[in-house]
Amino acid sequence: MSDHLIEIDKLHAGYGGIPVLRDLDLHVDAGEVVALLGPNGAGKTTTLLTISGLLTPLEGTVTVLGEQVTGAKPHMIPRRGLAHVAEDRSLFFDLTVDENIKLGLTGDRAARRDAHERAMELLPALKPLGSRLAGLLSGGEQQMLAIARALVSNPKCLLVDEMSLGLAPIIVEQLLPIVRDIADQTGCGVLVVEQHVHMALEVADRGYVLNHGEVMMQGSAAELSANRSLLEASYLGEAAAH
Ligand code: ATP
Repeated sequence: MSDHLIEIDKLHAGYGGIPVLRDLDLHVDAGEVVALLGPNGAGKTTTLLTISGLLTPLEGTVTVLGEQVTGAKPHMIPRRGLAHVAEDRSLFFDLTVDENIKLGLTGDRAARRDAHERAMELLPALKPLGSRLAGLLSGGEQQMLAIARALVSNPKCLLVDEMSLGLAPIIVEQLLPIVRDIADQTGCGVLVVEQHVHMALEVADRGYVLNHGEVMMQGSAAELSANRSLLEASYLGEAAAH
C-alpha cells in the first residue's frame, strides 16, 4: 500500500461523462502543503470534488488514506479523515462563530473540547469572536471560521479551495501561513487551491500547475518559484509537462 495520504492515479473526471481532468497523477503526504495552481477553468475545483467523492472518476483511481474513493458519497468525507473547505465556505450566517464550529465537532465531550481548543490555538483571531454571527464577520474571518470548522473534525487531509476568493492580498498573506501551521502542528496533509501563485509557493512544499485539465508543471515550491518563465508559460498552456 502507498504511503501517500492522497494518491491520484491516471484520473479522468468531469461532468456528464465528459472529462475535464485528463490523466491526472497527484499525491499529498502527511505534514505537507501542496499548492494546486492554474488559470480559471483548469480543473482545480474538479480535482478537489473528485478527491472528496462528490464526483465519480470516469477513469483512474483516487485513494484517500488507503481507501479507494468511488464517488457520490459526501457523507463519507469526515469518516475518511478528510475535510473540504469549499470555495463558498458554506457557513451558516445566522449562527454564531461557536455554533458554526460546533457543526464540525465529533466525538465525546472531552474530545470535542480538545478539538475546539486546538483549533483556537491555530486560529487565535477567532477566539474573541465566539458569540458573533458568522454573517457579520469580515471575509478573512469567515475564511478562518470555515477552516476552524474543518479542523475540529481532526482531519488527516485538508482540502482548501480558493482560500483567497474575494479577499485583499494583504489578508491572503496573513491566511496562507495558517495552512502551513496546520500541516506542521497537526501532521495533516493540505491541498490548497490558490490564485496568488507566489504567495502560495511561499508556504507550500510542492505544487502542481493544471491547465485544461492536465498537469503542465509540477515540482518543489522552490523549483516552481525559481522557474518563473516556465510557470507563466504553463498558465498560458505553453509548457510541456515535466
Ligand atoms: P476557477 O479557478 O475558475 O475556479 P477551476 O480550475 O477550479 O477554475 P473547475 O471549476 O474545476 O476549474 O472547472 C473546470 C471546467 O469544468 C471548466 O471548464 C468548467 O466550466 C467546467 N465545469 C465546472 N463545473 C461544471 C458542471 N457542474 N457542469 C459542467 N461543467 C462544469
